[in-house]
Amino acid sequence: MAKDKTKSLFGTDDIEDVSNVSGRIVRVALDTGADSLFDYVVPEFLGTAGAGQRVQVPFGRANKLKQAFVVQVIDDPEEIEKCRRFKLKSAKAILDEQPLLDEELIKLAQWISQYYVCPLGQVFSAMVPGAVKRDVGVKKQSIVYLKPDAESLLETLSSKKQKTLVEILQQASAVDMDSGIEKSALLESAGCTEGPLKQLVRKEIVKIEKKQVLHALPVVPNGLATEAKEVVLNDDQQKALDFVTKEINQKDFGVSLLHGVTDSGKTEVYIRAIETAIEMGKRAVILLPEIALTAQTVQRFSSRFENVAILHSQLSGPQRNAQWQSIKNNRADVVIGARSAIFAPVSDLGLIVIDEEHEGSYKQDTVPRYHGRDVAIKRASLAGAHCILGSATPSLETLYNCKIKKHYTLLQLPKRVMDLPMPEMKLVDMTCAFADTEHKGVHLISPQLREHLSKVLERKEQAILLLNRRGYSNFVYCPSCRHSLTCRNCDVTLTFHKKPQLENRKETILGRHMVGGYAICHYCLSKTLVPKQCPLCSKNMTMIGLGSQRLEEELARKLPRARVRRIDSDAMAGQDYYDVLRDFSNQKIDILAGTQMLAKGLHFPNVTLVGIISADTALFLPDFRSNERTFQLISQVAGRAGRSEKKGTVYVQTFFPQHPAIEYALRNDFKSFIEKELEHRQACCLPPFYRMAIVAMRDGKFDRLTAAAEQMRLRLESIISAENLEITLRGPLEPAIGRIQRQHRLQFILQGKSAVCLQKLFERFRGMAPLRPAVQTQVDIDPIGVL
Ligand code: ADP
Ligand code: ZN
Ligand code: ZN
Repeated sequence: MAKDKTKSLFGTDDIEDVSNVSGRIVRVALDTGADSLFDYVVPEFLGTAGAGQRVQVPFGRANKLKQAFVVQVIDDPEEIEKCRRFKLKSAKAILDEQPLLDEELIKLAQWISQYYVCPLGQVFSAMVPGAVKRDVGVKKQSIVYLKPDAESLLETLSSKKQKTLVEILQQASAVDMDSGIEKSALLESAGCTEGPLKQLVRKEIVKIEKKQVLHALPVVPNGLATEAKEVVLNDDQQKALDFVTKEINQKDFGVSLLHGVTDSGKTEVYIRAIETAIEMGKRAVILLPEIALTAQTVQRFSSRFENVAILHSQLSGPQRNAQWQSIKNNRADVVIGARSAIFAPVSDLGLIVIDEEHEGSYKQDTVPRYHGRDVAIKRASLAGAHCILGSATPSLETLYNCKIKKHYTLLQLPKRVMDLPMPEMKLVDMTCAFADTEHKGVHLISPQLREHLSKVLERKEQAILLLNRRGYSNFVYCPSCRHSLTCRNCDVTLTFHKKPQLENRKETILGRHMVGGYAICHYCLSKTLVPKQCPLCSKNMTMIGLGSQRLEEELARKLPRARVRRIDSDAMAGQDYYDVLRDFSNQKIDILAGTQMLAKGLHFPNVTLVGIISADTALFLPDFRSNERTFQLISQVAGRAGRSEKKGTVYVQTFFPQHPAIEYALRNDFKSFIEKELEHRQACCLPPFYRMAIVAMRDGKFDRLTAAAEQMRLRLESIISAENLEITLRGPLEPAIGRIQRQHRLQFILQGKSAVCLQKLFERFRGMAPLRPAVQTQVDIDPIGVL
């Protein structure tokens, strides 16, 4: 049973004696990092607080006032009696008139807390936007109303100003009986000061009420081209829709994977499915990866549905609060948003759609480290709703679930709508691209790509260039014989890591000579020392990486007349981003260059060329998902080209043309890629066959960290053997980046035969006393990478 830990932890001397305070006893969760719940009395004079409401409570030895979410009201007499004996502290205030979270969301929070090994208070905290908790954007306004029984008094009015005021109010109430007018607006239109109004109040002809009004700008971007045409679904779309409609009708939980190549009409299916749900009196949530990608999509949905709410990170506080409140008050039938919109307080949920379900950005990288897709599936199951996962390149996890889980169904849209051809894919081998050029230096744009770019410009068409500069991307390579270091256990190329003491280096550039270090295999995690000279031909090995602004500079040099804009998620706030997209769609920009945020969701019919500057950047992250990401990236970007009758071409620049992920992506052969990749994952006991968890520890002092890690290892091992769990424990291992911000890092990788056995492990773990020495420790369940 949860008890007031403040007492057991801090002694009893400073606890006010409230044993005779009468009131409800509530069990609350605090956002302090404490992994237990606490009981408080809510004194009667404060009113009643129920589950999902926040209360203010004194916490800890100093009785600091903190906000806490009520998880449940204790109403079992026996338990109340037990609680009373603990001399509970009493809450100081009730912070919400209405619960912020309903029963379903509280259940979801409890699941997240348990599954993702995160204190419940922190989950609650993440579920409700800060702007809502602080009630941002709410202003007090004075509204003037005409009293209904004031008619008889009107004749007594002598003042002209007073008469004018009354006339204006009469006009307003003729439209709507209980409509009032905001005070300053009323005075302005009557052209008078407050004096006459005060007189009217005194005569009881009008009344003034204070009202809380939420002020926020609308959130739907405008000015982007959208098509309003009615489309007739093709057979594949219709089949998919029929299935989903049946599921929604049955009000049973189920998941369908809508696997359709880019431009196969997935979004159209989502829209129809949402219409079905609304017709049945249900509501829908649609999640999209990073909202910045979705200006067009947001607009497309907004034009198709009347009551849409939008939640994403670019909203201002008041906007977010207003959107959230409109959902809470059942004024939105459709909620569109990024990852955290899965916590929107929607009632009567009938359908959840996760677009681009394979996207890594659905995983939150701070506490609680949940995966938006998996939480969505859980929420759908709690609500008895249907969940559609859509993608052109579904994740291995979802494909695997379709094979092994009964409630998963695979729906396919194999063709582009209106039989648009897939774009032509061209491979550029960057190792020979510059063989006959005189300038040695750094080139990001091959002669082939450059030539095609100038043709596109001549034809007044447009191009998108993709430079993926996220993460770091150094791999080791011999420029003369093309040898690259490979793992002795697995058939993968190793990634170069500098030794920690050599870490203060400049921005990595192409062709720098190495100074020593080691290479890591991202499948089996084995390390190899890197030779300075190529083991095959004895020439110096080099490291390859990319800088981002170089691309812009190079374009200016090579295509001086092109109008180029760079777009990347860090550098660009919402409105700027919309502006650039608008300019691009109005053809005021010829070449749009940017990070992978350009790879998704955009639709520009005049784009006939897409260039992937380096297809290799994701490939050589020391991570087991990097092949999958590379394949996804190339396919997604390719989908941006040729979305109209004009034929599209895609250039894929790579130093590793024979790499399977690149070969399969160029051939557009998803099936073979998946088969091969699954084989590999199974052989290495990796997801989706195994479930993974990472326990990451960090500390400024390396000795303390290793001592703590040793304690951790002993504890994890003892639980695994005591419970007889099918889990492989590896570590402590130094992660790819051994030190971040002066914090040394070590991690354990756990591979479990099932989610259940990992769950058991962490449940036991949480019940035990804290480890000594204490260092910062994080648990990441189903990590998207092992960096
Ligand atoms: P996806 O989400 O798979 O990329 P969309 O649903 O966005 O595909 O469809 C791509 C384009 O084709 C959109 O402009 C859409 O309006 C149009 N479209 C979708 N389905 C059809 C159809 N059955 N017939 C004609 N056009 C369609
Ligand atoms: Zn060599
Ligand atoms: Zn290996």
